[in-house]
Amino acid sequence: MATAVLVLNCGSSSVKYALIDPDSGHRHLVGLAERVGSPEVSVKATRGSDSYQVHPQDSSHAGVLTEVLREVSELPGVSVRAVGHRVVHGGEHFAASVLVDEGAVAAIKAVTSLAPLHNPANLTGIEAASAALPGVPQVAVFDTAFHQSMPPSSFRYAVPARWYREHGVRRYGFHGTSHRYVSEKAAELLGRPVEETCLVTAHLGNGCSAAAVKGGLSMDTSMGLTPLEGLVMGTRSGDIDPGVLPYVAEREGSDLSAVLAALNKDSGLLGLSELSNDMRTVSTAARQGSEAASLAIEVFCYRLAKYVAALTVPLGRLDALVFTGGIGENDAWVRSKTMALLGFLGIVEDEAANAEHGRASSGRVSRAGDTLALVVPTDEELVIARDTAALVPDEGRSSR
Ligand code: ADP
Repeated sequence: MATAVLVLNCGSSSVKYALIDPDSGHRHLVGLAERVGSPEVSVKATRGSDSYQVHPQDSSHAGVLTEVLREVSELPGVSVRAVGHRVVHGGEHFAASVLVDEGAVAAIKAVTSLAPLHNPANLTGIEAASAALPGVPQVAVFDTAFHQSMPPSSFRYAVPARWYREHGVRRYGFHGTSHRYVSEKAAELLGRPVEETCLVTAHLGNGCSAAAVKGGLSMDTSMGLTPLEGLVMGTRSGDIDPGVLPYVAEREGSDLSAVLAALNKDSGLLGLSELSNDMRTVSTAARQGSEAASLAIEVFCYRLAKYVAALTVPLGRLDALVFTGGIGENDAWVRSKTMALLGFLGIVEDEAANAEHGRASSGRVSRAGDTLALVVPTDEELVIARDTAALVPDEGRSSR
């Protein structure tokens, strides 16, 4: 019987899962549960060309996971060798993926205040999988781990040092599995060992972040203590003067938590366009003449280009700018505008290659030169499956 890794990504109201062969990347099964915790919970799964609904009796995280894990363990012809969990925040404790044991669970719990929406959901996934699949090893893969190589000059804020010592106030960075994966893939495309590359990777999805990756190590990144800092995102503002918080709270007769919620949920592309957090919708509106939508895209691309330039500082030189995520992989207009702002770094758009999203030319969307722009589709689930497999040797295979 084939063995595979079950990758679980338990969010605050969603659960994504995939049963993956870590060697080939083949997905035996993928599924998505949405509106978890509400009576309208929906679970959709796909197996080959077959799509179907799963109906959990209980809409809670634990209820959905019990149903999903039952479905996965009953799948004919393939058994779960290990479970890999996406965990959002590992604080300073985790610089790499780890086998889950009591100590790891305690350490994940200890940093929960840094990711109060995400880490509890991730822990629920770990608990449910441990209960439903006893004896099957569990691995935690952290969004923050890749950025633990940042030096203090990148990760420290210029605030009272005691805040760092006593409360862990520093920049952690996120999307680490994606930045790691695409930097390794980009090195392959450049035909060089990753140790010899200087890259800026731009993960542009609903959340957006950029990272400076030198020799395969993260040197700096745009997200900070939380995923709010840095680039313009779907609904998040990215960088903002903290003075805005008390100012708006006072003017609107609200409080800091309400303003913070608006910076997380009502800002970014949605806030500027007053239309949508989805780049496709904003882009269509801009092409149809919406000034607000055009401005949203201008601010998005300008902030991105500004960060790319800033992130070359810890690199010393730039071999390639790497675009990934739903927007980075699919939006030729955003890439074109961003590249146009970065001509001084030696990046010149190749219009035909960019229109093809780099698919026809080994990822390249810029003209050949010293500095390239590449599109590299990310695959965070595959990274989680491979990290998990690396920590859990396949006993079936080794005994053969
Ligand atoms: P998540 O961060 O949730 O994984 P994705 O990486 O899927 O999100 O990215 C979602 C974003 O990608 C949305 O803004 C969406 O509009 C954008 N996107 C997806 N496909 C396209 C496309 N073909 N053209 C432009 N933008 C796209």
